[in-house]
Amino acid sequence: MTTSIPAQALENMAATYGTPVYVYHAEKIKEQFARLQNAFNKETTTFFYAAKALTNINILRYINHIGCNVDCSSVNEVQLALHAGFEPHRVLYTSNNISFEEIITAKELGVHINIDSLSNLKKFGERFGHSYPVGVRIRPNIMAGGNLKISTGHEDSKFGVPLEQVQEIIDLIKTTNLHIKTLHIHTGSEIKDVAVFAKGLNVLFEIVQEFSEVEVIDLGGGFKVPYKPNEAGTDIEELGRSVNMAFAQYNQTHNRQLKAWFEPGKFLVSEAGYFITKVNVLKENATRNFAGVDTGLNHLIRPMFYGAYHEIINLTNGDAPHKKYNVVGNICETDNFAEDRSLPEVREGDLLVFKNAGAYCFEMASNYNSRYKPAEVLWLNNQAQLIRKRDDMDDLLRNQVTAQF
Ligand SMILES: *Cc1c(COP(=O)(O)O)cnc(C)c1O
Repeated sequence: MTTSIPAQALENMAATYGTPVYVYHAEKIKEQFARLQNAFNKETTTFFYAAKALTNINILRYINHIGCNVDCSSVNEVQLALHAGFEPHRVLYTSNNISFEEIITAKELGVHINIDSLSNLKKFGERFGHSYPVGVRIRPNIMAGGNLKISTGHEDSKFGVPLEQVQEIIDLIKTTNLHIKTLHIHTGSEIKDVAVFAKGLNVLFEIVQEFSEVEVIDLGGGFKVPYKPNEAGTDIEELGRSVNMAFAQYNQTHNRQLKAWFEPGKFLVSEAGYFITKVNVLKENATRNFAGVDTGLNHLIRPMFYGAYHEIINLTNGDAPHKKYNVVGNICETDNFAEDRSLPEVREGDLLVFKNAGAYCFEMASNYNSRYKPAEVLWLNNQAQLIRKRDDMDDLLRNQVTAQF
């Protein structure tokens, strides 16, 4: 089953809130979470939504409401999560290359922390000894993920403590009495192949023998969802079966009670998002038809930054014969959303909707070209609620201080 927002509702929301506008379908997030819960052993598996995909406070509140935990990428995200109502023990902070001071702040807030460098592990052990259990992020030297920008576990990656330095972690436990409770990896985003997760898990099962106090194996996020029509995502049900079995076997043969943690971002919110834009200008050239929309890389940078594909639907002329278009933005740069995309004939004023606009879309938006960030709307129980107002001129001027000259 896939849950989606009816076209008429999208059109109504564009009329009510203006364009460009991000819309998020709450029940779709819930459906994705249910899929995870059904696929994995509930007793031994916990999910932490990777908040950096989409941090609107209402999304965080909704994630809390459906019973999912949260994983943060900065201490500010930790503060947002607490503000959204998560209790500290349901908040995880997976840091990378942050200052020791920020780790201390997270510790004072009482959340779970995954530390990703020997340097910070050493400082943490020296300061807190055995008193505060933490996780360590390992770099398993596995190449995974949709493209190099979103691959994080390979041998040239900045993330984590490289596998070949595990002995140094063990030495730190001896010298500082550090309490390591979690071994963590996150090898990338858009990992379709279940075998990649199994490979990562095996790496951690190998080394966990050396860590008698470890209770949790955290396999990060990175589940792939379909972006193109008919594209396959990670087979979550198969992944669930394989992970459940691996943990059951390991725990039985080694007499341990290791638990599995995951940090899905895209999987939970990508497909819940719709980005509604309006066609400002059509330009018909000898070689290309350009459809220029009322947004650009300032609001949705994934196509330009990662070469990401977002399916586009023509909301207001869907039955027309298809033509090919370059869908382009209104920013003073070449900001192609799509090249040679076959779409039902596009007219000025038509609404084009970008799908999979829940994860890393609004979240990466900026005010480049001094444009306003879009509004955000939650679609829940067949009703729309505004959850972020569109910026206005005050937002552009906020924090700017007038100099004297
Ligand atoms: C970004 C991130 C995730 C989520 O990745 P998705 O591809 O969105 O699932 C999970 N864990 C960590 C540590 C991350 O940095």
